[in-house]
Amino acid sequence: MKQITCISCPVGCRINVDVVNGEHIFSGNKCIDGTLFAETELTAPLHTITIMVRTTFPDMPFLSVRTNREVPKEKVNKTIRLLSKITVKERKRIGETIIRNILGTNCDIVAASDMY
Ligand code: SF4
Repeated sequence: MKQITCISCPVGCRINVDVVNGEHIFSGNKCIDGTLFAETELTAPLHTITIMVRTTFPDMPFLSVRTNREVPKEKVNKTIRLLSKITVKERKRIGETIIRNILGTNCDIVAASDMY
């Protein structure tokens, strides 16, 4: 049996996964979203990234940014490493794009807060 913690909401259900006749059987989740989360984690895990990046502005030296959709789990570490090296040189409004299609994931990096 495998256990997965659902992070779809703050409840954080621990979901037990058994395999019966080649199919995943889930228990421990309080709602259907947990089943969907666990199935995705087992087959094609995806994650949203939220992180602070440097800026050139002394009044706001860091900007919170996030992916505009979920990225494949295997690209999460590489994306975070890349973001740790960038510096934002223009003021951005919340939701404005900072990097398009990061690492070919079809995900954009957008500002998660307003710099004005
Ligand atoms: S299973 Fe449902 S209630 Fe439990 S953490 Fe996931 S979304 Fe929240």
